[in-house]
Amino acid sequence: MKTILIGGTWVGAADGCRIDVTDPCTGAVFTQISRGGAEDVDLAVKAARSALDGAWGSLTATERGRILQRLGQLILENGEELARIEARDTGKPMTAARMDAKAVARYFEFYGGAADKVHGQTIPYLDGYNVSVVRIPHGVTAHIIPWNYPAQMMGRTLAPALAMGNAAVLKPSEDACQSAIRLGELAMEAGLPPGALNIVTGYGAEAGAALTSHPGINFATFTGSPEVGALVQRATADNHVHCALELGGKSPQIVFDDADLDKAVPIIVKAIVLNAGQTCSAGSRLLVQQGIYDRFVGRVAESFAAVKVGTPEMDLDCGPIINERQYRRVKAFVDEALATGVPLIAKGELAPELPPGGFFAPPMLFGPVPRDHSLASREVFGPVLSVMPFANEEDAVGLANATEYGLVAGVWTENGSRQMRVSHRIQSGQVFINCYGAGGGVELPFGGVKKSGHGREKGMVALDEMSTIKTIVQHYK
Ligand code: NAD
Repeated sequence: MKTILIGGTWVGAADGCRIDVTDPCTGAVFTQISRGGAEDVDLAVKAARSALDGAWGSLTATERGRILQRLGQLILENGEELARIEARDTGKPMTAARMDAKAVARYFEFYGGAADKVHGQTIPYLDGYNVSVVRIPHGVTAHIIPWNYPAQMMGRTLAPALAMGNAAVLKPSEDACQSAIRLGELAMEAGLPPGALNIVTGYGAEAGAALTSHPGINFATFTGSPEVGALVQRATADNHVHCALELGGKSPQIVFDDADLDKAVPIIVKAIVLNAGQTCSAGSRLLVQQGIYDRFVGRVAESFAAVKVGTPEMDLDCGPIINERQYRRVKAFVDEALATGVPLIAKGELAPELPPGGFFAPPMLFGPVPRDHSLASREVFGPVLSVMPFANEEDAVGLANATEYGLVAGVWTENGSRQMRVSHRIQSGQVFINCYGAGGGVELPFGGVKKSGHGREKGMVALDEMSTIKTIVQHYK
């Protein structure tokens, strides 16, 4: 099994080790990946450096953009295959996997098109001086991504980095990296010069740690848990390397008594059920104004009870949890809620005739959740929605901001002034008003505050994140 891409060639781990990959729908091993380690990472970083000094580094922005757009086109042409690979690896429904494949293509199209539209500045300075500020790549960039949207995450982090001319080393998640491998093949087919993109599959504590602590990298971007994010920040600090962190969330959906409830219900349910709640920006807290609490929560409960969980081929509302460890984590939150008397309002349904051994978890709606309960503030990363009542606008803002996270928020009200007041007071990187955009939105800057991380991805701002500036001062008199 050769799943490590170094300098344009697929190789196995230097020590020959492999990792079994399990199917979340059955718990059975269905393939293996190479277990990359420090030696493989070192070769990948060196290959990236050679690419910068060679063919990749000498391309113009337009040429880089063309390759990325070609890759976007190839992803679209191979979309169905990619969707099947992603669905097999993560267990998500085929419809969702197809949408993910389209989103990856969109990242390469968007940033391919933007590659030659990043312009510098001139600065008026002293008489006889010409000052220009140009954007330059960081150099070798390290990218560590999680398992929940493996293909999308790969596009999100790599497309802007490559557009800016960096040479990348990607460490995908050991739990789901089949799509990264296929995307690596397509990148070669699109004409990406050897070494511009290197992929090292393996465990986080081995390949991941070796990459983030490697003295040859110039920038690191990490998407994953806050705990590992802190490790990455420490590792990169030792080499004085800048890093961007996209971490977890406990995003609130705030529903005021004048909200359009018909519109809100399906979007709120989808925002937690999507990907079985394994979405960093999942709307996992539902804050409802007291006057409409019973009426609105009753409607959410009805919709929640109709949610169905199944295999990719059944193509229902969501699939299984990624693996046994994560399944046990979700179950522990649910068991604790039940044991401490938090009312279970509604429960989704597991499809009949599910294969044995899978990690299927029914979506759960709990409430009212006490404000000091773990379900009120901790990220479950599963299909569990916590409902809490609030009294007024002041109370809603206080409650919304009462977690360590700050990634995304939803505000539901027809009052325009309140929409703006609340949006400005919420501590989060994105706010959606009368809509909610978990996932998607290549054009929209995304990232967190507080323990949700720092740095921004998506949108044109990702090109700034994936580059730095150089000031050139010329004296001409
Ligand atoms: P994780 O932190 O366990 O792993 C993420 C990645 O880091 C994996 O590739 C893993 O191999 C690697 N890793 C693990 N230990 C490492 C180490 N010591 N050094 C370097 N790399 C290491 O997270 P996960 O369980 O894969 O994903 C779930 C978490 O990710 C959740 O908290 C979720 O909210 C978050 N997440 C955030 C976003 C976002 O954009 N903000 C997106 C998806 C997931």
